[in-house]
Amino acid sequence: MRLDRELACQEVVELMTAYLDDVLDPLDRERFEEHLVFCDGCSNYLEQMRATIVLAGHVSLELPPALEERLLEAFRGWRGS
Ligand SMILES: [Zn+2]
Repeated sequence: MRLDRELACQEVVELMTAYLDDVLDPLDRERFEEHLVFCDGCSNYLEQMRATIVLAGHVSLELPPALEERLLEAFRGWRGS
C-alpha cells in the first residue's frame, strides 16, 4: 500500500494526467496537491503539462516516451541526486 506516506516525485508524475483529467480519487488528489506545495520540480512539471494541454487542446493519456524520459531526467537534476 502507498496510502500511508507522501508521494514520491515519480508517483506524482504518474498521477499527473489523472489529476488533470480530474479522475483521481479524493485521497490521491489531496496528497498530490500537498506534494506540489513543497516540490518545485513537480509544480514546474504540472505547469508544463498544463501548457502542453492548452496547446494540444486535450489531455493526452500518455506522454511521448522521449518527453517522459526527458522530464524524469529533469527531476533527477532538481532533486540533486
Ligand atoms: Zn515532486
